[in-house]
Amino acid sequence: MLASPSVDPARLPALLQAMPKAELHIHIEGSLEPELIFQLAERNGVRLPYASVEALRSAYAFSNLQSFLDIYYAGASVLLTEQDFYDMARAYLRRAVRDKVVRAEIFFDPQTHTARGVSMETVIRGLHRACEDAQREWGISAALILCFLRHLSEEDAFATLEQALPFQGQFIGVGLDSSELGHPPEKFERVFARCRALGLHRVAHAGEEGPPAYIWSALDALQVERIDHGVQALKDEALVARLARERVALTVCPLSNQKLCVFPDLAQHNLRALLDAGLCATVNSDDPAYFGGYINDNFLQVFAATGMTAAHAWQLASNSFEASFAPEADKRAWMARLESVFSDYSAL
Ligand SMILES: [Zn+2]
Repeated sequence: MLASPSVDPARLPALLQAMPKAELHIHIEGSLEPELIFQLAERNGVRLPYASVEALRSAYAFSNLQSFLDIYYAGASVLLTEQDFYDMARAYLRRAVRDKVVRAEIFFDPQTHTARGVSMETVIRGLHRACEDAQREWGISAALILCFLRHLSEEDAFATLEQALPFQGQFIGVGLDSSELGHPPEKFERVFARCRALGLHRVAHAGEEGPPAYIWSALDALQVERIDHGVQALKDEALVARLARERVALTVCPLSNQKLCVFPDLAQHNLRALLDAGLCATVNSDDPAYFGGYINDNFLQVFAATGMTAAHAWQLASNSFEASFAPEADKRAWMARLESVFSDYSAL
């Protein structure tokens, strides 16, 4: 393993783009570009409250999590058939391959669709088929994580889990997303316990806009294996010590944090501080169509803004493999590719 790769800083952007990486925090509905929304609306005869692609894109000027979620759910309303879900996931996976993503663990929000009368089967089959085809055609490893919407009740989450169980082989875990404030993790303690008993992986959004206390309860009440976002952890020394000791990964999303004003600007993002504190932080795109960029845009912009180095790039890519739920043999192969790309960029 390269402890401190020496790379000409001028080559760092190219290295960030070329290095293999895992993306562990991507909401597939958040990858819907305005062009695809319009295409699907036309195919399905859905009327959109926007006159054009440009009008929809300009409506993306939201300023906080709730105003973002309002438009996010409106965009998802065009998804009706299995082919729609397939097309959405395929568009994301094609883009991820270009960014040298070798493993994608993709969140989906079934309640956004089942509440509109779309069946669980339609959602999961379309997404899963896109993952399988992408693996076969492009070599990217992709898996699905079913997320419960935390602004809904735990009973609703239980009902959603029951609907998904016939397809248990087609998703690897569960997560918790949507509006964080006012919906602490412990609200979902029983349904996560059930998922744990079923052998499903568990992750949860915590410590994005919410306090460090939500990260503690995601760990203790939900027994999650990763924290999505978690950037507020640095406010709590004891929490940082625990996350470092237990190697609990944080799936950080710099451009999302910037867009939702979690930090006033990217230069003040704490990603570098999280790494310096010994935490298993990773870089991800969250909702790339809405937040101004896919995973490589996130890497390029946060590195440019904070002055991180090739050593940080190495750490972030290697953390992404460590934190993924992929088989160990795959992780070893990806680490070998990472080493090979770094040695190409170090050998001058
Ligand atoms: Zn998210």
